[in-house]
Amino acid sequence: MTAEIKSYWQNHIAGEWVDAEGGRRITTENPATGETIAEVACASAGDVDKAVAAARAVVASRALVGMRPMERGRMVIEIGRKLRERKQEIARLVTLDCGKRISEAMSEVEGAARYFEFYGGMAEKIEGRYIPLGDGYVDYVVPYPYGVTAHIIPWNFPNQMIARSLAPALTAGNAAVIKSPELDPLPAFVYAELAEEVGFPAGTVNILCGIGSEAGAALAAHADVDQIVFTGSVPTGQSIMRAAAGNVVPCVMELGGKSPGIVFPDADMDIVIENAEAGIFMNSGQVCDAMSRLVVHADVYDEVVERFVERTRKLKIGPGIDDCEITPLISAAQLDRVENYALSGVQDGATAVHGGRRVEGAAGHFMQPTALAGVTPEMRVNREEIFGPVLSILKFETTEQAIEIANGTDYGLAAVLFTNDLDRVIWCTERLEAGQVHVNEWGVGGIETPFGGFKKSGYGREKGVEALSSYYQSKNVGFRMVRRALGKPPLRGASGLCPLPSRERDTKTR
Ligand code: NAD
Repeated sequence: MTAEIKSYWQNHIAGEWVDAEGGRRITTENPATGETIAEVACASAGDVDKAVAAARAVVASRALVGMRPMERGRMVIEIGRKLRERKQEIARLVTLDCGKRISEAMSEVEGAARYFEFYGGMAEKIEGRYIPLGDGYVDYVVPYPYGVTAHIIPWNFPNQMIARSLAPALTAGNAAVIKSPELDPLPAFVYAELAEEVGFPAGTVNILCGIGSEAGAALAAHADVDQIVFTGSVPTGQSIMRAAAGNVVPCVMELGGKSPGIVFPDADMDIVIENAEAGIFMNSGQVCDAMSRLVVHADVYDEVVERFVERTRKLKIGPGIDDCEITPLISAAQLDRVENYALSGVQDGATAVHGGRRVEGAAGHFMQPTALAGVTPEMRVNREEIFGPVLSILKFETTEQAIEIANGTDYGLAAVLFTNDLDRVIWCTERLEAGQVHVNEWGVGGIETPFGGFKKSGYGREKGVEALSSYYQSKNVGFRMVRRALGKPPLRGASGLCPLPSRERDTKTR
């Protein structure tokens, strides 16, 4: 085990650090070395029951919804400040448990801190409204938190993905049960400490590590959960949606992607190549909106392939802790999966112009940075999410063809255009089926900009002002005045009750 990391981590329920029922544990490993880092309590359905009950008790106490929103916001912002204070320590944990390069882990934690600042500042700006109904009636709409929110988290951003949903959930006045990813659960636990340090009541933030098909499934199907945020793969999302349907619970679904970068002949090629590298090799391609397909105009196709390969050759493969550019995949299973995809591309007729196989003899789960040229739309490597450092490069002749290729998958997360032709940008953005379209830079935007998918990439939005509305519902309060302040005498003696004549009920709007 890695010496400086605690060797056993418990779950956090109702303010206590606890073993899993029956003492079950799982191990987590360093993907760069394959060595065990630590053991973690492995929650089962019984532990999920306890965590949901703890969150429910906080909701029932009205401690969160009853406090002044400004105070809640201050606590949320304070979590961000404390995260930033501990950035180095948490980033190191992210790198050792998840494998990504340390510079990316630092920006992951920085981004997490920003989520708490961004949403915390909005706590007292979640306003209701007054709806005029005429004399004698008062009607207003109250934003009301859902109550117990469930957060099921993937392994590719094990710290920041929690911040992305926890910050708005707390801001809006909810309690949370977090199911951390079993492959890299360690960077999640800090949120239990921080939430209580800043003053949230015990039970507001509960964190469980457990196997997805057990603890995750139990949480998704729990009858006392009021809202679910899931980030992960499409099949898991579908099973969670089915479970949520059983309890009529709303979900936010952030699923996979197969995002294209379309390169037109007038594009600045330095920008294209720089973004192609970042777009597919950040976190070794284990990024939901990775620019995993480059759709290149025939006039510049050879140049793009050649320059991309030249740049890829220079990338250093190695552990994230040494800030190498190509870091390991999360697990041996993921490495098998990614390598099989690369091999299938070649079998289907593509050419591996760089890489195409795992790094032989490495202790960790390293895949060579891979570029497949000559990919055509019907190939699996064009249509299916690989979630590894494998770029598919396709050729197009006309702009219509580029859009058809770009839209030709089940996914619709992001799309990138590389061109300086404004008319073409507008024409393409109108037609691209993607939750976010970027021009001349992969991933333009940030915490402030709404993020989510079209098609099988999911529904609902995270980030930005839009996301906050996923964490509260509207309660409309309408009442009729029964005592007139002025004018007619009371009808019912001393009580002074003087009902206004009832209006005809508007049955049509029921
Ligand atoms: P996954 O679906 O296997 O697991 C995600 C989480 O769900 C894990 O915590 C897992 O334990 C849990 N889980 C697994 N089976 C479950 C079940 N039956 N019921 C409830 N929970 C269950 O996904 P992954 O492999 O961890 O992550 C990779 C996927 O996530 C990719 O498809 C990627 O595109 C997607 N992703 C999307 C976004 C986004 O914002 N759209 C961000 C990151 C990752």
